[in-house]
Amino acid sequence: MPELPEVETIAKKLKSVVVGRKIEEIQIFNPKTFQGDAQLLLSQEIVDVSRRAKIIEMVFANDYVLLTHLKMTGQYLFQNDGDLIAGGHPTNDWQEQLPGKHTRVQINFEDKSKLFFNDMRKFGWLRLVAASSLETVYSALGPDIISPEVTTDYLLSQFKRRKMPIKQAIMLNEIVCGVGNIYACDSLNLAKISPFRPAQSLSREEVDILLSSMKVIINKAIEYGGTTFDGKYVDIEGKAGSYQTKVLTYGREGKNCYNCGGTIQKTKLGGRGTYFCPDCQI
Ligand SMILES: [Zn+2]
Repeated sequence: MPELPEVETIAKKLKSVVVGRKIEEIQIFNPKTFQGDAQLLLSQEIVDVSRRAKIIEMVFANDYVLLTHLKMTGQYLFQNDGDLIAGGHPTNDWQEQLPGKHTRVQINFEDKSKLFFNDMRKFGWLRLVAASSLETVYSALGPDIISPEVTTDYLLSQFKRRKMPIKQAIMLNEIVCGVGNIYACDSLNLAKISPFRPAQSLSREEVDILLSSMKVIINKAIEYGGTTFDGKYVDIEGKAGSYQTKVLTYGREGKNCYNCGGTIQKTKLGGRGTYFCPDCQI
């Protein structure tokens, strides 16, 4: 599933191609994929594309916002004069005719360019909401890890009543969004903190180090266009992310820890593969 750095990469690329275009027609091939009244977007211009948590936001001139969650296999494909740009989970569709058998929504722009939302597994969704109701949509979500709202004080206040392992706490969306499994493992290794420590046991100094480590790791992943394991994700130009070549711990079981030369171990925590160094992560 694409995580924050992958969704950030797709949102940025989408922004570079769809801003300024006006919608002529929306074809919905799978009604469950699109929630809201698509008619509200006709003749409307996309003025911005942004991301919050793992949701892509397309902002329209009439103050409506089209939200997209790619879930497991959603992808955007943009077509202009026969040139195809893809983003999300790759299928063979983009070698072939569009719309394809996995196309759930097709947006035709007035200038004849097209945007396709393909989703093999059909868990992804598009939801049209008024800009004024966005906060309600996000009310159950904590701030984004790269937002200035996430401070040491904020995290301390969230951790103090939680006994759960720190790795699970930083992956909990109601505390902070954007720290997926790979990035949680690597951030804890960089901070030299054990993933098993109860969240409330971390000192202020440790939370401070963990926060800067999470920001370093997420920003590095964004810089490298996200992570592609097993060809499961490509950005909107069909390029794979390359953070997997920069990982500190994830997938490096039995290899040497970059901090101390110890051996990276793998275990399960909360059902997720967890990689850590027992020598330096205390
Ligand atoms: Zn180590």
